[in-house]
Amino acid sequence: MNSLPNHTKTSFPTKIVRGLFRKCAWCGGKGSFFTSWYSKAERCQTCGINWERGYEGFELGAATMGVFMTFGSIIIWMVASVIFGVPLVPLLLVAGVLAISVPILGYPLTYTVWFGVDLSIRPPSEQDLAEAQAWISAQKGA
Ligand SMILES: [Zn+2]
Repeated sequence: MNSLPNHTKTSFPTKIVRGLFRKCAWCGGKGSFFTSWYSKAERCQTCGINWERGYEGFELGAATMGVFMTFGSIIIWMVASVIFGVPLVPLLLVAGVLAISVPILGYPLTYTVWFGVDLSIRPPSEQDLAEAQAWISAQKGA
């Protein structure tokens, strides 16, 4: 897990699937940069890669992933409801529950999925990898 350059050939779908399971898109480490369900650390707790990597707009991408996940789940539910003939009141109640619960429960996934997209658009630089390696070394030394 610690040899960072070996992760450069990870495919885009693999990165997204890792993100959907709240794993690091780069190394597959469990929990990625989250220390609890809602608390983020600066770096992945397995490989040490910084999730922002100097890009302050990172959280805008994560928010966009949140919109996609929330609206996507509601659209899938509404299409399935129309196909299977679900009455209007239960249809709207479940859609309301999705509109509230998906953003709350899916919060860390918006970050880990966007991290996978961001890594594909903007692969880590040599400096990012060197900083991650230094962080790993510091963790071992501590
Ligand atoms: Zn990692």
